[in-house]
Amino acid sequence: MEMPTPCCNCKDVVELSDLRESNFTKDMLCIDCYKSDSELFSLVDEARDINRDLENYAEHMKGDRRGWKKRLKELKKKIEDLGGDVDDLLL
Ligand SMILES: [Zn+2]
Repeated sequence: MEMPTPCCNCKDVVELSDLRESNFTKDMLCIDCYKSDSELFSLVDEARDINRDLENYAEHMKGDRRGWKKRLKELKKKIEDLGGDVDDLLL
């Protein structure tokens, strides 16, 4: 069944069956937007983990907290480059 539907992000009209639900919201995205969305999601996911482990003084980070902080900073930079709002996403 054909059902042209606009992507919630770029407004490109595609078949409904080609849309995927965003990892963050209920927005339905085209394949391209979904790819960026997923990339952003995995970066946020990793950054959240590191952030939490740093705050909890996780055992595996002992001795290399500086390295983890650096990694977190890199992730935040990438998230911003993808148009994500770090303060908003990492809460
Ligand atoms: Zn799109």
